[in-house]
Amino acid sequence: MLSQFVNYNHQCPLCNEPLNLYMRWQDSLFFQAKSVERDIIQFDAYAGTETKAGTKPELEALSGESMLLGFEGDKALTEFTSNGLANEAKKHHIYFFYLCNPKGIKQKGFADFSISLYKGCYYRSTPFYEFKQSEDKTWALDTVNPDFKEIVNKDESFAFNSIEDNLEKVYMMNLDHEKKETMLWYYSVTEEDKKVKGFRPKLFEKSVPLLSNRPKLGREDRARLIERFDGWIIMS
Ligand SMILES: [Zn+2]
Repeated sequence: MLSQFVNYNHQCPLCNEPLNLYMRWQDSLFFQAKSVERDIIQFDAYAGTETKAGTKPELEALSGESMLLGFEGDKALTEFTSNGLANEAKKHHIYFFYLCNPKGIKQKGFADFSISLYKGCYYRSTPFYEFKQSEDKTWALDTVNPDFKEIVNKDESFAFNSIEDNLEKVYMMNLDHEKKETMLWYYSVTEEDKKVKGFRPKLFEKSVPLLSNRPKLGREDRARLIERFDGWIIMS
């Protein structure tokens, strides 16, 4: 549920930095949550930067407009600063995500981006939402798939490393609550490897059923978590 997603946590469980909140309209605009006043979140539209592929003038015109999101109980209430933005909202699938380190977002082209979990540290996202019209003709955010209505975090992912004797070990995990699957990734690189241009470490990848409890991620629990990862890696 969106209200629970917004409030699930506001600090990174790995490094304690404040999390940043974003909203993405598929194939359209990208938003960053700005001020939060009296429980109303203001999402400012960002159309992206011009690339060789060109720009989309209709999206560029909406850059700087905002969507306001608030809650009445569990019900999401939205408002837009322009009709143009409200109309655009109805055309796209929408999801929200929190990211620890904004450096994890890489602009890929106009109105497109990718996320590096290694740089981003911690990430969690909602299922897809869309604006649906109810019988009283009002529009409200609802999950695209009704089966996913109760899901708080669709994906919850994190990455961390440990460096020992010139060897960096990188551990990553994603908990997917729609597929009910946990993905694990692991690779290691030496300082020498990093100097080789285009070096691609051998990536270990494993899928296990969804963990019933997300492991503790804090620094004080890190050694135990690494032990658990090493167990999964050895078992495969
Ligand atoms: Zn973090």
